[in-house]
Amino acid sequence: MQYPRVTVDRTKLKHNLDYLSNKLKAKGIQVAAVTKVFSAYPELVALYADTKNVAFLADSRLENFANYPTDIKQEKLLLRIPMLSQVQKLVETVDISLNSQLETIQAINQTAQTQNKYHKIILMIDLGDLREGIFEQAEIDQTVEAILKLPHIELIGIGVNLTCYGAIIPNYAILQQLVEHKQRIEATFNIQLDILSGGNSSTLYLLDEAIPPEINQLRIGEAFVLGVETAFGKPIPQMHQDVFTLEAEIIEYRDKPSLPIGQVGQDAFGQKPTFVDKGTMRRGILALGKQDVDPSNIKPRDKRLEIIGASSDHLILDFTQAKEDYQLGDTVQFDLTYGSLLNVFTSKYVAKVFI
Ligand SMILES: *Cc1c(COP(=O)(O)O)cnc(C)c1O
Repeated sequence: MQYPRVTVDRTKLKHNLDYLSNKLKAKGIQVAAVTKVFSAYPELVALYADTKNVAFLADSRLENFANYPTDIKQEKLLLRIPMLSQVQKLVETVDISLNSQLETIQAINQTAQTQNKYHKIILMIDLGDLREGIFEQAEIDQTVEAILKLPHIELIGIGVNLTCYGAIIPNYAILQQLVEHKQRIEATFNIQLDILSGGNSSTLYLLDEAIPPEINQLRIGEAFVLGVETAFGKPIPQMHQDVFTLEAEIIEYRDKPSLPIGQVGQDAFGQKPTFVDKGTMRRGILALGKQDVDPSNIKPRDKRLEIIGASSDHLILDFTQAKEDYQLGDTVQFDLTYGSLLNVFTSKYVAKVFI
């Protein structure tokens, strides 16, 4: 056994994929399933690709598509606005990209022309979250007009991203603005936009309330892997929240005081820590540190344990409430969040185990 490790229960993940993609399908919404949160590990991409109602596979990094099987039936979608310096690789690698800069779209057109290809784009509109997307209506229309002149670009739709930078929660009125942009663009330019891409896992809660029926695509990452909607962070009852388990080994286990002895200076990260005197406690050190994961983003499954500190390679836990149930060499299991999932999948020190 190698620790620390992240274990992925593929049966639970498959359930989440089937459950949510079927539910979205029933509402007339196509799913772009997002693989960036687990660095597009092939063992997991395969599950996504085999899910019947997953219509697109999406990632934010072009490099990650190299992990995809070559024979997938889904179209590949790049989520992050492409770099001007990467348009060649973009056109070679994916079918569709989200875009917001005309200059980049023009460069994609040129490259597609030389590669004798057509590249599809979804034009991103900023409805207030203030990450990517065109903000002014006049610029949206000018950009569409210019795109329609590019022979190797297919404008297949428009989209929005919310709850990423500004943490803006989608609602009916915001998404209705997207619908109105679509209708105006279609009428002005006498074209049809097939895709109206209404956001990410934070839009899911609207399915049970009211969502404009024109929204026909969602790009879903977190909900599949963690079984939660992300507008309010609520678990989705029919889905698994424990697909992923982080496990680390106890390397020191003994009673010690809770207050460090001597003058307090700076810790390993330049912070001046403060301590509460809880008397003598059973302290355990795990072989897991900030190089592997941000300790504020993991939670021990055993609720009696409490994380009390971390440095680059060590995690210190208070085991006092569960003292007799652990010993040196045992492991402790943790639940993960979106942030810690990203961390463990990009840390080379964390083993990945697929069961
Ligand atoms: C990451 C990302 C998503 C997926 O977001 P989740 O909250 O994980 O569902 C969707 N769209 C864009 C543009 C993204 O970058």
